[in-house]
Amino acid sequence: MKLIPHPIENKPEYKVSWDVYSRLAPNTPYIRRQAIARRSVSSLLFQQSKEFNTTKSELTTIEGDGLRVNLFVSKCQFRCTNCFNELSQQEGYGEPFTDKHEEDLFEKLSLPFVDGITFVGGEPFQNANHLIPIAKRIKAEHPEKTIWSYTGYIVELLLMLDDNDPRRAFLDYIDVLIDGQFIDEERDESDLKVYRGSSNQRLIDVQKTLETKNIRLHEMESYE
Ligand code: SF4
Repeated sequence: MKLIPHPIENKPEYKVSWDVYSRLAPNTPYIRRQAIARRSVSSLLFQQSKEFNTTKSELTTIEGDGLRVNLFVSKCQFRCTNCFNELSQQEGYGEPFTDKHEEDLFEKLSLPFVDGITFVGGEPFQNANHLIPIAKRIKAEHPEKTIWSYTGYIVELLLMLDDNDPRRAFLDYIDVLIDGQFIDEERDESDLKVYRGSSNQRLIDVQKTLETKNIRLHEMESYE
């Protein structure tokens, strides 16, 4: 019996997602990879979060190079199996992000030994509308500090979006993107020290990628 492909599988976005996840998730069964690639395509339809909520912001050494300040935001529709922060998938989880949160964030960022910020989710790119002004202010006030972000999107799809899509606009401010859905089958404890939950997730050098129009990986510092 010939299997009829799901209509989503004829979309170019599916072919891109399938190609990326097939290379990066070799331990994941075919059916699961199909579901992950389909989720990747439907991620293009995810809406921006109306509420801008956060759960915490603190100094960290495990979410990017050097000492950083992180900002956890709420809402994520990827719903990866065994997500590390399931409650934050809900829009409105945590407390509304206020001027007080912003001032606290910039106070931490202005400490001379802080290297930059990392946006953590939930899904930062579903909060792009809210995070763009913050990223813009960081670039204006602290151009020497780097901006990292986690995302369930793969960078190839973010690059296919229209320039006026907030997710595409937000990408312009990012230095390093830790991209891709968390895949439980690819969980690799030895990779945890390099900021990722599963080994399919890549550290993308966004600015070099934009400049060269080729996917370029972030060159890692020594982690020993
Ligand atoms: S993308 Fe991240 S926050 Fe969203 S469901 Fe997956 S692991 Fe959880």
